[in-house]
Amino acid sequence: MTVQEYPELENIIADDEKFYLNAFGRRMPICLVKGEGIWVYDSEGHKYADLIGGIAVNVLGHAHPRLVKAICSQAGRLIHCSNYYYNQPQTTLAGRLARIFQDGRVFFTNSGAEANETAIKLARGYFFHRRDPRAKIISAVRSFHGRTLAAATATGQPRYSAPFAPLPGGFVHVPFNDIDAMRKAIDDTTCAVILELIQGESGVFPANGSYIREVAALCRKTGARLIFDEIQTGMGRTGRFFAYEHYDVKPNIATLAKGLAGGIPIGATLADEETATGFTPGDHGSTFGGNPLACSAALAVLDEYEAGELVEKARETGDFLLAQLNELQARTSLVADIRGLGLMAGIEFSVPIAADIKQELQARGYLVGAVGDSVIRLLPPLIITRQDLSSFISDLDDCLKEASV
Ligand SMILES: *Cc1c(COP(=O)(O)O)cnc(C)c1O
Repeated sequence: MTVQEYPELENIIADDEKFYLNAFGRRMPICLVKGEGIWVYDSEGHKYADLIGGIAVNVLGHAHPRLVKAICSQAGRLIHCSNYYYNQPQTTLAGRLARIFQDGRVFFTNSGAEANETAIKLARGYFFHRRDPRAKIISAVRSFHGRTLAAATATGQPRYSAPFAPLPGGFVHVPFNDIDAMRKAIDDTTCAVILELIQGESGVFPANGSYIREVAALCRKTGARLIFDEIQTGMGRTGRFFAYEHYDVKPNIATLAKGLAGGIPIGATLADEETATGFTPGDHGSTFGGNPLACSAALAVLDEYEAGELVEKARETGDFLLAQLNELQARTSLVADIRGLGLMAGIEFSVPIAADIKQELQARGYLVGAVGDSVIRLLPPLIITRQDLSSFISDLDDCLKEASV
C-alpha cells in the first residue's frame, strides 16, 4: 500500500470550488506544499523556481533557517498579546524601522491595505487635529493600494472599487508621471498624495525622477502629506531599502508590508514626527497588529538583511537580471519593453502571449506572474543568485524561440 502524503489535487480543487468564495479566478492547477530556498514543490512532486516569491513576500525564500528559528522560538514563548500591554519585539521593530526611515514613528497592521488605510487616516487626522480638516486624497491612475474600501478607492483602477459603491469620498485620480495633471489637482485643501514609486500590480511602471521631485515640492508648498506606498517596492526590492532613496525624496509617510516579515502577515505605516501627531490615544487600533510573533519574524528578516547584505545583493543581481533581459529584448521582436529596478522586473511582449509564456515557463519549472495579456512580472526572493537567473533567462529564451515559430 502506498501512503498518500498529500490529498489528491482534484479533491483540493473540487473543495476549493465548492467552499471558497469565488474571488480569485485561480487558473493554475497547482497546490504548493513545501519549499526551500528559491524552490517550491507541489502536491504532485513537481519542483519550481519561485520567481514571484508569494508576490514579493518571500524575500528570504522558503523555510529560511533564521526565520523558521525565530518564529518557532517566539511561538513557544508568546504568540500574541493585546496592545493594552507592551511587547518587546514590537518596540524593538518599531525602533529598527524608525531608524531606517531616519525619523518619526511606526504603527503595525496585518496587511498592506491596512497599512495604507492607516496612512490615509493619519493624514486626515493630522489636519483634523490642526483644526484645518482636509479631505482630498490624490492618487494615480493605474495604481494599486489594496482591497479595503478606502484603499480600493485610492487605487486608480475602477474595476477594484466600482462594484462596491458607495465609496468613501474625497479621492481624486490623476494620470501617473503627468506633473501638469498633479499641478491642477493639488491645492491648499489637499490632505495627501499617495503614490507608488514603481506601479507593480498594473505592469511595473516606474515613476520619473523629475516627476517625483516636483510632486514632493508641490506637497511642501500646499502642506499636503506625501505618502509613498512601498508595500511592493520596499524591503530592498529595488536595490535600496526604500525605492524613494533612488529619487532623493523623503515622504511624510511610507507604508511597508509584503516582505517585511518574510511571509508572516504584517504591515507597517512609518510617519515623520510632525505627521505622527495625526493620531492621539483612541484614534486608531488593531487587535493583531504588531503582535510578538509577526514582529519577531520581521526582526529575523532585518537581521538576515544585515548579515547577508541582502539589499546590496538585490542591487547586484537586479542589475544583472535587467541587463540580461535587455539583451534578450535585443535578440527577439517578441519582447517590446523591459521595465523595473532591482529584483522587480516587467517583461512586456509585443503580442498577447503572457498567459502562454507563463504556462510554458511553469512546465519548465518556473513560477512567474502575468499582468494582463502581455506582461510577465518577476519578484523573486532577494537570496536568488545570478546562476539561478541565468538558467531562467536561457529557458525564457527557448520559450520565446518556440513561440515565434
Ligand atoms: C500588495 C500591495 C498592496 C496591498 O497589500 P495587501 O497585503 O494585499 O493588502 C498595496 N499596495 C501595493 C503597492 C501592493 O503591491
